[in-house]
Amino acid sequence: MALVGLVIADNLVRVSALLILTSSGTYTTLDDFLASDYAFFMQMSASVIGFLMALTVLGTVMLDVVWQHRHAAEHDPLTDLLNRRGFERAIPDFSRESFPSGAVLVCDIDHFKLVNDRFGHAAGDMVIVGLAAALRDGLPSDALVARFGGEEFVAFLPGVTLAEAGMLCNAIRLAFAARDWREGGVTQQITASFGVSATASGDHSMHDAIGRADACLYAAKSAGRNQVVMEGQQAAHAPTQLRVVSAADRRA
Ligand code: GH3
Ligand code: MG
Ligand code: MG
Repeated sequence: MALVGLVIADNLVRVSALLILTSSGTYTTLDDFLASDYAFFMQMSASVIGFLMALTVLGTVMLDVVWQHRHAAEHDPLTDLLNRRGFERAIPDFSRESFPSGAVLVCDIDHFKLVNDRFGHAAGDMVIVGLAAALRDGLPSDALVARFGGEEFVAFLPGVTLAEAGMLCNAIRLAFAARDWREGGVTQQITASFGVSATASGDHSMHDAIGRADACLYAAKSAGRNQVVMEGQQAAHAPTQLRVVSAADRRA
């Protein structure tokens, strides 16, 4: 944009200067003008600016193409969330950076195979997009949210405590379960289960925390689905559908 501005300014200055110089009688013939220092300087500056302009356009187009390819390689085309590769690149590296405190969630749509079987693959896709939107809307803007495959999602919430993440997940769970899918041809309630963990100082990578969240997700599925299970506290078969699970529970 700066260069476009420069090209416009350069043209305006040149035309104005030419008009002034010819009307004031400085140049009476074209040869006078072409032989002047001003004409030389004007042509030089126009060539340099034109060359820079061409380089800039080429660079911008190349950056755009690189960005598009990188976006396609690191995002899921159905939901436009990060894919596994994008997530791996985006999450903090535990060995290089200071300990990244935050919460991890793993969530999975309940009995999703039945949704596909009953209402078709396109309806299933619509539900996947719906959960992706619920996660995007319900999680903080700096959360790294990824579709890990099928109907399973993983997110890292930097600086969020376990308790806060549990509350966020429960709000998303409730909103998702309350959603009416009839417009898309799905005539049943659809729910999702969530497992939540927090990064710990002994973790070697984000995958340690993901593994603990995954164990909680497994517990949520075993306990009847449509619930949020958090790590690290005493298990309770809570009717509130937001419960915590102990290490002993996870091993079981
Ligand atoms: P659970 O409650 O235990 O999670 O059961 P589930 O039926 O959700 O889990 P399961 O792993 O048995 O089924 C997952 C299904 O997701 C099977 C597969 O056909 C479907 N699936 C995977 N990827 C996609 C996709 O991109 N679109 C659609 N529509 N379906 C998908
Ligand atoms: Mg499932
Ligand atoms: Mg699954």
